[in-house]
Amino acid sequence: MHYQAPLADIQFILNDVLHAPAQLLALPSFAEVDADLVQQVLDEAGKFVTNQVAPLQEVGDSVGCTFDAGTVTTPPGFKEAYQAFWQAGWPALACAPQDGGQGLPAVLEAVLFEMLSGANHGWTMAPGLLHGAYECIKHHGSEALKAEYLEKVATGEWLATMCLTEPHAGSDLGLVRTKAQPQADGSYRVSGTKIFISGGEHDLTDNIVHLVLARLPDAPAGPKGLSLFLAPKLLPEGGRSAGPSQARPAPPGGSEGHAVPSVGAIRNAVHCERIEEKMGLHGSPTCVMRFDEATAWMIGEPHRGLGAMFVMMNAARLHVGLQGIGLLEAAWQKADAYSKERRQMRAPKAKMGSAPDLISEHPAMRRILSTQRAWIDGGRVLAYRTRPSNSTC
Ligand SMILES: Cc1cc2nc3c(=O)[nH]c(=O)nc-3n(C[C@H](O)[C@H](O)[C@H](O)COP(=O)(O)OP(=O)(O)OC[C@H]3O[C@@H](n4cnc5c(N)ncnc54)[C@H](O)[C@@H]3O)c2cc1C
Repeated sequence: MHYQAPLADIQFILNDVLHAPAQLLALPSFAEVDADLVQQVLDEAGKFVTNQVAPLQEVGDSVGCTFDAGTVTTPPGFKEAYQAFWQAGWPALACAPQDGGQGLPAVLEAVLFEMLSGANHGWTMAPGLLHGAYECIKHHGSEALKAEYLEKVATGEWLATMCLTEPHAGSDLGLVRTKAQPQADGSYRVSGTKIFISGGEHDLTDNIVHLVLARLPDAPAGPKGLSLFLAPKLLPEGGRSAGPSQARPAPPGGSEGHAVPSVGAIRNAVHCERIEEKMGLHGSPTCVMRFDEATAWMIGEPHRGLGAMFVMMNAARLHVGLQGIGLLEAAWQKADAYSKERRQMRAPKAKMGSAPDLISEHPAMRRILSTQRAWIDGGRVLAYRTRPSNSTC
């Protein structure tokens, strides 16, 4: 059986436990977001998740992503579902209207991603990083970078990655060795290898926006020497350089004031070397990425990249919490369905000699299934309460 969107349970937590509609209505940004609108959005989200994303779980696991000479192909149906997802406006649900978003409360996005993760964790890894990338570019990107990338990332037309981990640098990002060399036109050339990069390469979107931690030549050692860069898979029109006539020294704050021309079809020097096996997520391309003097622009200030990157990492952490709740719900749905079909032994109420009872009728099993549901509901209260409103609306 496929995952079914548990809308009644979710609405019980939102409406009867957290009283979310009343709390949201009291906020000026959401004065028009009443209970009917919340229900309408969740109903539509539930339909998309149940009808379009959940049925792809099996093919995602059995076929998985494939790698061929630097190209990554996602499982059959993944690309079509993703295109339908962003074109329906789902990634932009909680983004600001001026960035192409719908300006709806972030708690609705939390519910959406909990359901998506339960329905198909592998597929959901790709859009799961979008909101964090959006917030990071919005809060720390230059006006030129925002003009080129913010709306594309807000709407999900282009997916984004978070390039932190290196073969020798996992928990300890202070060891990151990837280098960024400043160029006369205000851009940078980024060189180094990143591993475990979720969605590093794929066919879901034309362009991929990589946010990369790297070190400037004069950087101090350790985490305070890291700067953050944006390196797209497809370079803006005009290629690597804005041209000698526009050459000028890089200002503090990276690319601020430097034109970032419109996107073209020129491939940046960002290469996927292979896809990795990671925690059974076959539908999610986890990539080893090589940056080979890739053209990039700085996000935020020199040596303060980790702080900017934390905007994205913290959004990703909240999404990992939602993944946990989604997977717990998916496991409960399977266990509950099995307990209602499998007959074993006799329940206490049964008469001697009668047929075996359903597992769901045994008190010990009911206790286990109810405990599992209590964990799910408790997790929802915590997660929805943690992400009630938007930082950008
Ligand atoms: C599902 C998934 C998706 C990911 N996606 C991305 C991605 O998109 N981009 C990206 O850059 N990375 C990604 N990663 C990589 C992730 O960021 C790293 O796995 C993480 O930072 C930990 O690094 P590591 O695996 O090298 O573990 P290590 O740093 O080698 O740690 C191994 C273990 O030792 C423990 N440990 C380490 N140091 C200490 C210490 N000082 N004290 C006590 N215990 C310690 C850790 O807690 C851990 O349990 C992903 C990982 C997973 C699981």
